[in-house]
Amino acid sequence: MKEAQHDLIVIGAGPGGYVAAIRAAQLGLDVACVEKASELGGTCLRIGCIPSKALLEDSELYHEAATSYGQRGIKFSKVEVDLPSMMARKESVVQSLTSGIQSLFKKNKITHYTGEARIQEAGQVAVNGAKQSLTLKAPNIIIATGSQPGSLPGIEPDGEVIGSSTEALSYQKVPKHLVVIGAGYIGLELGSVWKRLGAQVTVLEYLDRILPGMDSELSRQAHKTFSQQGLEIHVGTRVTSAKKTDEGCRVECEGMDPVTCDRLLLAVGRKPSTANLGLEDIGIELENGRIPVNEHFATQVDGIYAIGDVVAGPMLAHKAEEEGIACAEWIARGGGHVNYDVIPGVVYTRPEIASVGQTEDQLKERAIPYRKGVAPYKGNGRAQTLGSVEGSVKMLAHGETDRLLGVHIIGARAGDLIAEAATAMSFGASSEDLALTCHAHPTLPEVIREAALATQGRAIHC
Ligand code: NAD
Repeated sequence: MKEAQHDLIVIGAGPGGYVAAIRAAQLGLDVACVEKASELGGTCLRIGCIPSKALLEDSELYHEAATSYGQRGIKFSKVEVDLPSMMARKESVVQSLTSGIQSLFKKNKITHYTGEARIQEAGQVAVNGAKQSLTLKAPNIIIATGSQPGSLPGIEPDGEVIGSSTEALSYQKVPKHLVVIGAGYIGLELGSVWKRLGAQVTVLEYLDRILPGMDSELSRQAHKTFSQQGLEIHVGTRVTSAKKTDEGCRVECEGMDPVTCDRLLLAVGRKPSTANLGLEDIGIELENGRIPVNEHFATQVDGIYAIGDVVAGPMLAHKAEEEGIACAEWIARGGGHVNYDVIPGVVYTRPEIASVGQTEDQLKERAIPYRKGVAPYKGNGRAQTLGSVEGSVKMLAHGETDRLLGVHIIGARAGDLIAEAATAMSFGASSEDLALTCHAHPTLPEVIREAALATQGRAIHC
C-alpha cells in the first residue's frame, strides 16, 4: 500500500483540526489532515454553527418584516417565505467558508487526504477513502474528530420525521408542529428558526430550567421571552418514548399527555466521535466517553494528542480552536496555553444570550464574595434606535479585589458584546477598568460600561 511521511497528522478538519493544522504548518511542520467528509470545516461549518446562523438570520428578517417593519414605516403588500431560496443561501454561505479552508490548506502547504483514518499504532495512521487508501506516518498525531448528535433510549431517529439538528437545518417544508426534546443551545436556536417561519413549536426539557449551565437569572428571563414569542416550553418533563405514526410522531412524556407532531428534533446533547479510530487497540481508554489528556493535550500514548469535543470541556467550536492552536504550539515548540476561565458561550436566539466566566450561582456555591451591577438595554440610545430594548448586562466582580469574575448578557448582539468582557477578563481587568473606559456613543457596548458603573455603585442611566 502507498505510504507517505509527515511531521504531523491531524485527524478531522473541523474548527479544532483545521486550525491546529494551519498553526502547525505556520510553525514549520509538514502537516497532513485527514477528513472523511468530502468538504472541510467539520460539523460547525457544514451542519452546525454556520448553517444554523444563516437560518437564524433569515428567519428573523422574515419574522421582523412580517410583524414589525410596519411600525418603522416600512410597508409591504405581502411577505412570504421562499424556503428553497433560504436554504440555497445557507448552502452558499457554507460553500464559501468550506472552500476558504481549502485555500488556506493550499496556502499553508497542508496535505489534505479524504478518507476515514484509523490509528494503527503510535506514529501510523491508515486512511481508507473512496478514491485512495494509504498509510501515513508521522511522529505526532492529533485526534480532532469532534462529536455527533446524542440520542435517547426508546427513540429511533429515522433521519426524516425523527432527527437531529442535521435534518432540522434542511427541512424541505415548514413543519406544522415541531417537537424539540432538549432546551439547550440547539433546541432553542432551531426551535426559534422554525417558530419564526410558521411552525407550532413545543420544547420538552428534562431539567427544571432551560439552558442549564447558564446563569439561572438569565435562564429565567430567557424562558419568559421565548414563551412570549410563542415557543411552548415544558420544563421538568422527561420524554420516555417517541414512535412514528401515520401522521408523524407521537411523543410520550412523564407527567403530561402525549404530544403528536410531524417533526421531532432530538437536541439532548452531543457525544464525542471516538469510534473506529482504533483507540482501544493502541491503549487509549476513554473516561466518561472522552479521551483523557494532560495539560499539553497528550494522551496516554506518546505522540498522540487530542483536542476539541473528544476531550473534556464545553463542546464549542472556539474552545476547540483554542486547543488546536495550543496543541500545535506544544508539538512544534514546547509551549501553548488555553485560558479555560474565559471561554464565552453564545445562544443566537432573539434576543441573543451570551456569557463568560462564572455565573452568580457558581459564586454563591463557591462562597466567593462578589459585587453585582446590572444595566438594562432600555436606557441605551442605540438599543432604542435599533428597536431592541429588551434585555440587560449583568456584571459580577470580586467583592474585595473588584476583578471581573463573570459577565452575562441577554439582549441584542450579546454575542458580539461578550467579546469586550472576554478581552477585559483575559487581561485580569476590574469592573473599574471598564467603567473608566470611554465607549463610543451611541453604541450597544455602552450597556457593558453602564453595568460596570453599576458594579461600582455609580450607574448614570439606571
Ligand atoms: P445542550 O447540552 O446544550 O442541551 C441539551 C438539553 O437536553 C439539556 O437542557 C438537557 O437537560 C436536555 N435533555 C437531555 N435529556 C433529555 C430528555 N430525556 N428529555 C428532555 N430533555 C433532555 O445540548 P445541545 O443543545 O444538543 O447542543 C449540543 C452541543 O453543541 C452543546 O454542547 C453546545 O455547546 C453545542 N452547540 C453550541 C451552539 C452555540 O455555541 N451557539 C449551538 C449549538 C450547539
